[in-house]
This record gives sequence, structure tokens and C-alpha cells, in this order.
Amino acid sequence: MDPDYFIHLEEQYGAHNYHPLPVVLSKGQGVHVWDVEGKKYYDFLCGYSAVNQGHCHPKIVDAFVKQAQQLTLTSRAFYNDKLGEFEKYITALFGYDKVLPMNTGVEAVETAIKLCRKWAYEVKGIAENEAVIIVCDHNFHGRTTTVISFSSDEDSRKNFGPYLKGFVSIPYNNIDALQTALADKNIAGFLVEPVQGEAGVMVPDEGYLATAKKLCKEKNVLFIADEIQTGLCRTGKMLCCDHENVRADIVLLGKALSGGMMPVSAVLADDEIMMRIKPGQHGSTFGGNPLAAVTAVASLKVLQEEAMAENALLLGEYFRGELNKIQNHHLKLVRGKGLLNAIEIYSDGPQAAWNLCLEMKERGLLAKPTHGDKIRFAPPLCITKEQLKECIEIIKQSLHVLDK
Ligand SMILES: *Cc1c(COP(=O)(O)O)cnc(C)c1O
Repeated sequence: MDPDYFIHLEEQYGAHNYHPLPVVLSKGQGVHVWDVEGKKYYDFLCGYSAVNQGHCHPKIVDAFVKQAQQLTLTSRAFYNDKLGEFEKYITALFGYDKVLPMNTGVEAVETAIKLCRKWAYEVKGIAENEAVIIVCDHNFHGRTTTVISFSSDEDSRKNFGPYLKGFVSIPYNNIDALQTALADKNIAGFLVEPVQGEAGVMVPDEGYLATAKKLCKEKNVLFIADEIQTGLCRTGKMLCCDHENVRADIVLLGKALSGGMMPVSAVLADDEIMMRIKPGQHGSTFGGNPLAAVTAVASLKVLQEEAMAENALLLGEYFRGELNKIQNHHLKLVRGKGLLNAIEIYSDGPQAAWNLCLEMKERGLLAKPTHGDKIRFAPPLCITKEQLKECIEIIKQSLHVLDK
């Protein structure tokens, strides 16, 4: 089992739209993954937080396999006996009238944009084609042409134009900027990540989300929370907005909604918004398929049964506390919420963070740099304190590679 063989295959036959760490994985269980040579690692990327419940969680696998043998796809041309149960379950859990199921995260974002616009024209009364959605600088909401139209990342945008109109970008964590932007009467929505994950785990000031929500409400503007990465217990609450008791008008879920089994995303909203979309106006062949429905319910149940929010909250505090004790002049800062954390290191370029990730890999912990000098640490939420202690030691020891 030569890892170079598999790496070569991907290099040779696959598009080069990623730059993976040189490790070839073939097995996962709980907080661990194994490479093709049998070496075991802690997974601190966790499929970009899609595997919050841990790899191959037995209850989720069981639900998935059973349903896979029964019925996988009906399309929405027909009813199936699993979708409604999922819809009832998820709307009750999060307290919304309705859910619209999609597949990938970015499809949930696209759905929210369409819902917001339709609501703006048909309920708020904005003139046709004039609706504007406020977004934040350094956002990450996915990769479609609509969504990259309002990205501030050059790599994501350059030479993919022309871009879609109807978005205005303001600095994140800046209430004044939001207030100014909200003065425009054509503003329909404010699309925001409760913590900016891809940007390097940027945690806004306490009260930012609550104040932003209040301002939006005053202006009759929809507050749209992209909880695709921050939701589902990652930051120590079921939703990150729960930390400030903020109820978004539209909530977007994805990633861990299937425990890493398959792409499942969802948009939650009340009838005033959701019922604007009529048959034929939006959809997806796979959205709401019975396999996804069953897998999502199992994934949500595991999060609750195993108290993963509580674990993320407690161990997140512990993790940041311990990392902050590390005396290493390469370590610039540690930040995060729950078990969504990042470190920034002092460096002249992206090479240092990459080298640090290679060293951690040698020592049995997988993580990936995001935006050059930042490394995100987001282990599965089933991690124990003992395991986390071991991981902190690995990180601490690995930092010495930067001395060279
Ligand atoms: C990952 C992510 C998305 C996109 O999800 P995909 O499944 O990759 O399309 C959107 N928003 C946020 C905040 C994300 O982290």
C-alpha cells in the first residue's frame, strides 16, 4: 500500500483544485483516521466540521445502511415515507415552521438568497430586481458563481466573472458598518457566519450577533445565519447563534447534518418566507431523498444523545486555556469558540503553517492551514479530555519545527 501510488493517481487524473496534505486515508472511526500504511491520526479537520459526530458513527452508519437497502431516491415527483418524518423532526428541534432540504452547503446558501429575494419583492415590497443582500468581508459561503460574486478572496473570484449583482460587502464584526448599509431601503437580507470559519475562525465580539439581529428587525431585513460550519454543536451550542439567544429568520445547515455520510443541507424558515416558493420554482433531484432524510435524523439524534454541544463547550475552554499556556515565540494567538479553534503563527509566508501541519502529521495529528499563517483545530465532538490532552502535547511538540 504505497501512498505515492494514490497521490499520483489523483495528481494525474483529477483536477488540481485542492492542495492536500500528503496523507492517504483509508479508514476512520470516531476521532481517528488511518492511512493506507496503517498509521493512526487524530483528525483535527474533521471534514471541515462535517464529521462532528465522529467518523463512521455506528448509529448513523446503521440508519444509513438500513435505508440504503430499502429506498434511496424517489425524487420529489413523489412522496416518500421518510422525508416528512425528517421535516417534522428538524423543524421541531430548531423551532421553525418549515424546512427546505438540499444537498451541499452552497445549495442551501443559494436557496436562502432566492428565498430572501422572493420575500423582498412579494412581502417587503422592494421594486423588482432591486433587492440587495448585505454580506461580510472575508466570508465563505461556498463556490458557485453566485456565491463567489460576493467573495473577497481573489483566488475564489479571479477570472470567474462576470459576477452577479445585488450584494454589498461590509466589514465583519462592525455594527456601525451594518447600520450604515442598512440605511438603503433596498436591503432585503443580511447573510452572516456566526463565526467566520474559513477566514481563520474569526469570532465576533460578544453581542455582535444580537445587535445585528435587532438592527435587521428594525429595518425589516432578514437575518440569515450561515450555520453550515458553526452549527450542530461545533461551537458548544446546537447553533452558534444560540450563544446570544438570536433566532435568525433563515438558518442554513449542512456539513455535519449527515455526520459525514453524504451531502445533506437544509434551510429553515417560517411560513411567511418559505411559502413564497411555489411548486416548480426551486428544487433539486436529490434534495429530500429518503436516504438523506434518515441519515440526517440519526445524525441530529447522536448530537443530542451524546451531549456533544456540552462536550464542545467544556473541552473548547480547556483547549484554548492549555494552548494559551504554551510558551513558544512562534505562537501568535489562539482563538475560537467551542471546538472550532485556530492558531495564528508568526511567519513570513504560508510555508511555516504548512511545515507545522506536516510535523503534526508525523506526530499523529491532521490539520490544514487556512489562509497562510492560520491553522484550524476542529476535532470530532466525541473527543475525550484524555485524547485532547494528548493532542495538545502533539501541537506543543510540533511547534519546535519552526525553530529550524
Ligand atoms: C463549507 C461551507 C459552505 C459550503 O458548503 P459545501 O457543502 O462545501 O457547498 C457554506 N458556508 C459555510 C460557512 C461553510 O463552512
